[in-house]
Amino acid sequence: MDILILAVVIALVAVGAISGLVVGSRKKKQLPPSAPPSTPTITAPPAEPQVGEDAVETAEESRRTIEEVVLPDAEAAAPEAPPVVAAPEAPAAPEIEVPEPTAGRLIRLRARLARSQNSLGKGLLTLLSREHLDEDTWEEIEETLLIADVGVVPTQELVDRLRERVKVLGTRTPADLRALLKEELLTLVGTDFDRAVKTESGLDTPAVVMVVGVNGTGKTTTTGKLARVLVADGRSVVLGAADTFRAAAADQLQTWGDRVGARTVRGPEGGDPASIAYDAVKEGIAEGADVVLIDTAGRLHTKTGLMDELGKVKRVVEKHGPLDEVLLVLDATTGQNGLTQARVFAEVVDITGIVLTKLDGTAKGGIVVAVQRELGVPVKLVGLGEGADDLAPFEPEAFVDALIGD
Ligand code: GDP
Repeated sequence: MDILILAVVIALVAVGAISGLVVGSRKKKQLPPSAPPSTPTITAPPAEPQVGEDAVETAEESRRTIEEVVLPDAEAAAPEAPPVVAAPEAPAAPEIEVPEPTAGRLIRLRARLARSQNSLGKGLLTLLSREHLDEDTWEEIEETLLIADVGVVPTQELVDRLRERVKVLGTRTPADLRALLKEELLTLVGTDFDRAVKTESGLDTPAVVMVVGVNGTGKTTTTGKLARVLVADGRSVVLGAADTFRAAAADQLQTWGDRVGARTVRGPEGGDPASIAYDAVKEGIAEGADVVLIDTAGRLHTKTGLMDELGKVKRVVEKHGPLDEVLLVLDATTGQNGLTQARVFAEVVDITGIVLTKLDGTAKGGIVVAVQRELGVPVKLVGLGEGADDLAPFEPEAFVDALIGD
């Protein structure tokens, strides 16, 4: 019996030992092959370092990082290599552009008038230089002026003056003809107008300029370019995005403003233009700005609708003080259509100046004369391209010089 009990005990001990081995080996298998040590190693950089996390590196570790960055090597730059985290930087302030000075812009951009130059100025000069100035030639001269959109009455006036003066002149040298034509074209364009855009209110509040015109004429672009013209001349500007009708007009204007550091006051799309215009002037006063430029919507749905809308903008803005300038933007390429628009707007608001855009894309430079006659107000600015600084103060001498060529 004792022997039996002893045998059972030996057997139990043997089984226990064997199962202990098996469990132990299972436990070992469950351990990851390269388990990290229980205490973190300071030299091991975190796989994905976090910005702002305190990184503790040994000298050797940081040297390795620098070497990896400075001496890139296909093998060294293994995927596990810790990315180098740049020190967080403050977001870059938007770059503010310095617009070109406005003086002499028209002279710089004269080549843009090439089409008008060829058909109007040079065309007239060639015709006047013909040996025999017969009736057919005078008719051609008249036609040239009409095609260039000078308008019927001004054309007749110019032809009469030229006929008279050529007769008196007798012999016609090219220099004489050039001088004569220049003088007559200048008279036609007008040298007496005050063409400065009024940007001094004379009060201690900003001057307020409202920009009107049919959508598509380049109104918003012109408002943005005008902000640049003013900034170039050292004035501070606030923009009012009151064209809430055309989608993206406010974004477009704000982009122009941001480029020169001018604040843009805007509202929701389809919002009330008058309240935006009012807020823009309020902001201009608060900022102590020199000028507030207000872009407006120009849908020619009905004259009454247009009158109501622009009338309201004007009335509301004038709660702050009088409007200093109302600029009508006309697309020079639209010819007679542009003149019709001019008439409608003139009935709705008191236009004080005209901006002729897209003069770079037309041979019809004569529209300058026609539209001034139509409205009795001067062309103050001309658009000669899509570039940011392609809006020039209108200077009759430079314009006529450009038309006739050197
Ligand atoms: P809005 O609807 O009247 O505000 O018109 P935009 O300001 O959006 O201008 C309509 C288009 O005319 C844009 O593509 C402008 O770049 C372009 N534009 C404006 N002024 C001129 C200019 O003087 N010359 C040329 N070539 N394009 C212009």
